[in-house]
Formats: sequence, C-alpha cells, structure tokens
Amino acid sequence: MVNQCPICKQSLDGKGEFCILHNDALQNLERQYSQWVKSYRGELGKEEYYRKLLSLNETGPAVKAVIRYVQEKEGRR
Ligand SMILES: [Zn+2]
Repeated sequence: MVNQCPICKQSLDGKGEFCILHNDALQNLERQYSQWVKSYRGELGKEEYYRKLLSLNETGPAVKAVIRYVQEKEGRR
C-alpha cells in the first residue's frame, strides 16, 4: 500500500497515515480542538475550527497542510 505521507511524500512515521511532521501537526490539531471547544462552550464545529485556524497567521504551514488534506478528504465522503 501507500507508505508515504499523502501531504509531503516523505516516508511514514510508522504509526498513523502521515510522516512525523504531519502526524505531529495532526495531534496538535486534535489537542487544540478540545481546548477550543471548551472555550467556545461546546459550540464550535470542526469545520469552523479549521476555517479559523486557516485564517490565523500563527498557524504553522504543517498544520495548515493537514487541515487542507482533512477537508479535502471529508469533502469527498
Ligand atoms: Zn508529511
């Protein structure tokens, strides 16, 4: 099967579907989401969260790449 990161084509981390860099970014993304949901009192959808992050300059390029990948994947469902 595919053994390279779908985003940057580097070899995989061994666990998960991305390379080390993008696996890290994904984990940060998930972790930060639970924090944001708390501060929004549960009223924050994933789509909205992604949109907000993409609009922030502080969001790193690796995180943005993961968001775009996930959005595209979910858009195809
Ligand atoms: Zn990658």
